[in-house]
Amino acid sequence: MIPPPNAPVLAPPPDPLTPARDITHAHFRAGDQVVVLKGVAGGELWGDAMRVVAPSWHTPTDEDGWRLRDATGGAQTYLTAHPRYLVHLSRRCPDCLIYLRAMEDRLLPKYAAHNALIDCGWYATTALGQLVHVADARGGR
Ligand SMILES: [Zn+2]
Repeated sequence: MIPPPNAPVLAPPPDPLTPARDITHAHFRAGDQVVVLKGVAGGELWGDAMRVVAPSWHTPTDEDGWRLRDATGGAQTYLTAHPRYLVHLSRRCPDCLIYLRAMEDRLLPKYAAHNALIDCGWYATTALGQLVHVADARGGR
């Protein structure tokens, strides 16, 4: 189904790829530049670029996560994310590139007719600064 041009995106497209990603906590290190993919802008994937700061417990999944610094985050400068939300910007590693390409293949054709920035709405931030993917938020906490 192809939506008409300029149609508002009413529901986020499903994102089965991020929850299924098999990436270890040790894949990332303090100082790495990463991006959390959040949508599409001008025919390219769009997201929030951040720097990995330190290991930190990701409470929504009860697994090891990473503390991130978002230089443009304002009140939410520091966030904790699960490793599978992160893509390396500073290193071109196969693990992250495979995921990036898969996300491009899935999303870019959907929004080829859009020039606006599209936030797919996959992520929320808790009051305690924990970044949560919709797939990890289910089951309600
Ligand atoms: Zn990587």
